[in-house]
Amino acid sequence: MRKIFKCVLFLIAFIHLACIISKAQQYSLLIKGGHVIDSKNNIDAVMDVAVAGDSIAKVDENIDPATALRVINATGLYVTPGLIDIHTHNFIGTIPNRYLNNSYDAVAPDGFTFRCGVTTVVDAGSSGWRNFETFMNQTIQHSKTRVLAFINIVGGGMRGGAYEQDINDMDSKMTALTVNQYRNLIVGIKVAHYEGAEWAPVDRAVAAGKLTDKPVMVDFGGSNPPLSLEELFMNHLRPGDIYTHAYAQIKRRMGIVDENGKLRPFIMDARKKGILFDVGHGGTSFSYTQAIPALKAGFFPNTISTDIHTGSMNGAMKDQLNVMSKFLNMGMSIPALIKATTSEAAFAIKHEELGNLSVKGVADIAILSIEKGKFGFTDAVGTRLEGSQKLVCEVTIRAGKVVYDLNGIANGAK
Ligand SMILES: [Zn+2]
Repeated sequence: MRKIFKCVLFLIAFIHLACIISKAQQYSLLIKGGHVIDSKNNIDAVMDVAVAGDSIAKVDENIDPATALRVINATGLYVTPGLIDIHTHNFIGTIPNRYLNNSYDAVAPDGFTFRCGVTTVVDAGSSGWRNFETFMNQTIQHSKTRVLAFINIVGGGMRGGAYEQDINDMDSKMTALTVNQYRNLIVGIKVAHYEGAEWAPVDRAVAAGKLTDKPVMVDFGGSNPPLSLEELFMNHLRPGDIYTHAYAQIKRRMGIVDENGKLRPFIMDARKKGILFDVGHGGTSFSYTQAIPALKAGFFPNTISTDIHTGSMNGAMKDQLNVMSKFLNMGMSIPALIKATTSEAAFAIKHEELGNLSVKGVADIAILSIEKGKFGFTDAVGTRLEGSQKLVCEVTIRAGKVVYDLNGIANGAK
């Protein structure tokens, strides 16, 4: 009897202790002392961020380390929402001669995202309505990175060459039906690479956009003579549509900066109308002759993205942080850079639950450092810009889990 009594007492004490411990450690992760930039919530200050499970639990000036199972000391580092890259190519596959559609030239998201603080990518039209489901099964369902997509107005997707010139395969209704079938994954419609002088590809993409209430992302192709950029913005696109490759200097396409280095006046009107300007660096789509005068005229991008594929990632583009570092060294501020890759990117794809550190939101977080030194940044034509600052990713957290930790700062016990 006495023994049983002792056992019960012991059990009660044990349960009580367990309760105290679990109450004390209510957070699975605490990021302490970092400079938090969360543009959506107007935070630009040294703060602590607590995570419980897969969600943000608290953002405050001082959160007790005893309340967390794991503590990351982020002193001297930037803590931001997980970055969003709204222009990537991830439709990996094994079909030859398919350019970025179920092909060898696309790249698997997890191979390049987390090491750059990126937690969400948006494939920019690699698939069309005919093969979006293959893309979903092959890439989206097998990636730890969140993968969303613009689908191409071309039913066969970004197959390259003649396939992307076939107006007969640009079907607004079938595209809209597919978008509506997968509304959470498909963020909009892409039109790209068209070389003819017709407006039909843009107009059909916009028609699909109207049917689905989704934005259109435009790669303005190239026609001879070039189609009018002003007409595109003012007569064909809607507020919220996205002009990617904004700083490209490409034959047969009108640049946003004219031959005399002046920003064309209608570009500001287009911005006022609500057209969004995205970097989409890519292999050939970013030039200092466009970017430097545009930035000097106060024309900064709405969103910064890579246009990553095997053809761009080993050239001037490299990765998201390298592209952001170019803009940092051209004079864009850190808060503006982070906004362009978090809350503004989320706004562009109409997924405003992402790109912020709001309490109860998903805990996608990047911890970044800025290296000081002598660095070189090239553009698509090989012009080199020297810079003194470079962004580096220290830690990436996806849905509350540490998925990348460059120097092991998330590994240690508290
Ligand atoms: Zn692209």
